[in-house]
Amino acid sequence: MSVLQPDQFLTSVLAIDLDELMAKGYDAILIDLDNTVLPRLTDVVPPEIVAWVEQTKARGFTFCMTSNNWHERCHRAAAQLDIPLICKAMKPCPIAFWLACRRHGLKRKTTMVVGDQLFTDVLGARLGGFKVIMVKPLAEYDLPHTLFLRKFERFFIGGLEPLR
Ligand SMILES: [Mg+2]
Repeated sequence: MSVLQPDQFLTSVLAIDLDELMAKGYDAILIDLDNTVLPRLTDVVPPEIVAWVEQTKARGFTFCMTSNNWHERCHRAAAQLDIPLICKAMKPCPIAFWLACRRHGLKRKTTMVVGDQLFTDVLGARLGGFKVIMVKPLAEYDLPHTLFLRKFERFFIGGLEPLR
């Protein structure tokens, strides 16, 4: 499998099939922040995503947020969701994913990376040896360099439609 290919491509984290993940033995999720759980230009995680995180935790999943962001908004969002945070993650460098596993006693084989960007979340997960679910970004707006990279994303996964 290509390092620039997610294991699944979904419309949103809400479309993740927890039963399927549990059946495959997954028990942890390393989740991206911006445009995965928190739309750009907002400071509050949408209630349906807060509810999804709560339900997922209740099913026994351990979360850690791994974000390249380091501003106050990532600390606020992690606090809102009550999950640990590794900021300045420097994805696609996989060090933050490995650090999250070490810090929280997670196994790489049973941990799923989830994020909205091919060249940070997906590539980082692949380089680190993780399975990865890519989701569509919550908002069209993003940082200029991210919007630039999205043009290249289309080159690699342009024809790929979300599974659900
Ligand atoms: Mg993101």
